[in-house]
Amino acid sequence: MRLPCILVLFLGCGSPDQVQPEIKQLNEIPLNIRDKTEVDERTATVNDTLPEGWVDVKSLIPELVLDIRYATSDNFVGIQLYPCERCLLRKEVAEAIAVAFEALRADNLGLKLFDCYRPRSVQEALWRKVPDARYVTNPAKGSMHNRGAAVDLTLIDQNGHEIDMGTEYDFFGEKAYHTFTKLPAEVLTARRKLRDLMQEVGFKHIRTEWWHYSYQIKNYEVSDFRWPCPGQAL
Ligand SMILES: [Zn+2]
Repeated sequence: MRLPCILVLFLGCGSPDQVQPEIKQLNEIPLNIRDKTEVDERTATVNDTLPEGWVDVKSLIPELVLDIRYATSDNFVGIQLYPCERCLLRKEVAEAIAVAFEALRADNLGLKLFDCYRPRSVQEALWRKVPDARYVTNPAKGSMHNRGAAVDLTLIDQNGHEIDMGTEYDFFGEKAYHTFTKLPAEVLTARRKLRDLMQEVGFKHIRTEWWHYSYQIKNYEVSDFRWPCPGQAL
């Protein structure tokens, strides 16, 4: 059972270990992404070019909005680190995102993803820029992004506009912390909505970044492959 929001609030919301969420699985929600030959064919074609067990999330959820900042120079490093914009995740992680996405439909909300799988060599580049474990995982340890098991994301409305979360993505400071509460009520509500939803589908938040979620149900190895851009083989 999930704790009532108000109780979670008083517990500081920073203690997911105390909460035993009921993890939603794909077969618990009537997903219109499933049981369609056309979808199966599309996912097979797209994901054929990826290593075994990896999925391009857009092949599961074409409506998903991507704003993969490391595929541009609009990021805190200031240089393009990915060859092109793609959101790759381990299969179970991508399916959990699909469940979250479907759950948001009823509220006319969607998801925008800023980052998904990140090759370990890119992690090294980030660490050289910000060697601070509060914000960047040491590549020696390996980030959950390097395992294809983490996402950076936010909520968007039906027009594709980001819901106000109080700071920009990759804002390094206390204002982005879940524990920072000197924010308008609607911002706190939006952060809590995203956190509760992600927790329900198997992700855990971190204290310092409202946008970061790591999948908890399964462990994966660190990877360092670069994904193929459209028209390329791996
Ligand atoms: Zn992240």
